[in-house]
Amino acid sequence: MTAEANHILLLAGTSEARQLGKTLAEAFPESRLTASFAGVVRDLPDLGVPTRVGGFGGVEGLLAYLRQEKITAIVDATHPFAAQMSHNAAEAAKTLNMPLLRLERPSWQPGESDRWTHVVSMDEAAMALPTGARAFLAIGRKEIERFTHRTDIFGLARMIEPPPAPLPGSWELLLSRPPASAAEEISLFRDRNITHVVTKNSGGSRSFAKIEAARALKLPVIMIARPQLPDAETAPTVAALVDRLRQILANRD
Ligand code: NAP
Repeated sequence: MTAEANHILLLAGTSEARQLGKTLAEAFPESRLTASFAGVVRDLPDLGVPTRVGGFGGVEGLLAYLRQEKITAIVDATHPFAAQMSHNAAEAAKTLNMPLLRLERPSWQPGESDRWTHVVSMDEAAMALPTGARAFLAIGRKEIERFTHRTDIFGLARMIEPPPAPLPGSWELLLSRPPASAAEEISLFRDRNITHVVTKNSGGSRSFAKIEAARALKLPVIMIARPQLPDAETAPTVAALVDRLRQILANRD
């Protein structure tokens, strides 16, 4: 196989995937590169590379796509909570004996003064909130329904796209991306008298401002642990991933 024959599939949906579009194109100018989005969010970022949008149709659909497009390596840069896509990618790569690298940013860790309650599921997180809590819920549109039975709390739910079902009437829906600065989060939490922050342990810097704000305001955080992801080779940063992919592709030439 020659370097020209390489066709890398970039499974996107994170800020690192945005960086990877550009970085992979620069690092592997001889290779084809296709980015893939689930298509959940309407205003998709331009990664500067050819892009496809929408699910593949499970493992079978992904296998068909990989064969048809003559993909030679998969870079899984999906979100750590996008477990289904990562499982499908791992299974398809194994079936085709194809290299797969997953970008796995480290989890957030509590500082000494942080008040974190660690939970392993959305349901456990919902149960951890005391009656009367004013909770900031940064957990995504799909999972919000695990919390909506808690009509004894106020929920400030922030997500990018609207939820599938209406929220309780006394709650507030904030349709926006996370802000870059902790100051904005602090101002929001103060304005809504937030008493608890509920978040997935996404890791990375893109949505860390809420953790910084909780720290500054000494708010308790309900931290939801990541789902189990399949065995796969991982890299913690974009740079480490590109280095390792270079080695893998060189060995296949
Ligand atoms: P998921 O539960 O792992 O995936 C559900 C289905 O969506 C997959 O089985 C696949 O459909 C399709 N899919 C997911 N990512 C895809 C991609 N990059 N390209 C093509 N199809 C994809 O994922 P999710 O939690 O719904 O997340 C959807 C997307 O949003 C992901 O790309 C993820 O990176 C991004 N995201 C998720 C979160 C989160 O907290 N879950 C946060 C930020 C961004 P088929 O089975 O039909 O192939």
